[in-house]
Amino acid sequence: MQNTTKNTVEASFLELKNIGYSYHSLHGEIQALKDISFQVHEGEFIAIVGPSGCGKSTLLSIIAGLIAPESGTIVVNNPDGLLHYPKIGYMLQRDHLFEWRNVYQNVTLGLELNHMLTREHLDTVDRLLEDYGLDKFRYKRPDELSGGMKQRAALIRTLALEPQLLLLDEPFSALDYQTRLFVSADICRLIRAAGKTMIIITHDLSEAISLADRVIVLSGRPAVIKNEMKISLTLADDSPLAARNAPEFQQYFNRLWEDLTHENKKE
Ligand code: ADP
Ligand code: MG
Repeated sequence: MQNTTKNTVEASFLELKNIGYSYHSLHGEIQALKDISFQVHEGEFIAIVGPSGCGKSTLLSIIAGLIAPESGTIVVNNPDGLLHYPKIGYMLQRDHLFEWRNVYQNVTLGLELNHMLTREHLDTVDRLLEDYGLDKFRYKRPDELSGGMKQRAALIRTLALEPQLLLLDEPFSALDYQTRLFVSADICRLIRAAGKTMIIITHDLSEAISLADRVIVLSGRPAVIKNEMKISLTLADDSPLAARNAPEFQQYFNRLWEDLTHENKKE
């Protein structure tokens, strides 16, 4: 048995400081986020859990730069020392593959839209298709693929743009339970192997504990950070499926469950 820290965690490269956000509509104001502060280290996997409607997707959109925070700041320390916002890859609940394009046309879509169809990037796509076992399926339509293969294709499309930070918003919730167990473990293994940093939103506590280095628990709306839990599991093998059998797993689960049921009762 060895004590597995799932990743070599380095310097913090993203720091959220007192992020706040409210939606304004004709019916009034909805305060979604309040005073959210945390750091993201390079190569780290962070899972965010919280009651439904508390502001998780809003927080991810702010980190992605899709919406500007109303208050607070995000500080970036690039490992390369350069002054740019990290390149973001976004994966959503559904794979969003287009049926009228074959697998290859789907995985190169991001490159096409970003005017990045260079030989070098297409070579990366070829390598990923091969590594992820989709090479033989490149001319198939998405509906000829299994749920797991579709999710892999969506991951290739995201990785082709060479993001530094992957943001996943409940990416596996459209899959049935058994497929979900395998696909989530598979996708996260591939993202780790690619050396990326990841923030994943999930409502599945077991998924959060088995995949992440750290779990952040948000309260009901307006979301504040209710708890932050570093996950360290004693395992012979660090696969997310094996993680569920680690002796510490149940303790983490119970603690998160307590936090969340307390939040749900407040609603
Ligand atoms: P979560 O992802 O945790 O379920 P969201 O971030 O999607 O929550 O939403 C947080 C709150 O903000 C919810 O109450 C939701 O109804 C509200 N909300 C989300 N998007 C909008 C919007 N575009 N306009 C108004 N309210 C919104
Ligand atoms: Mg959401």
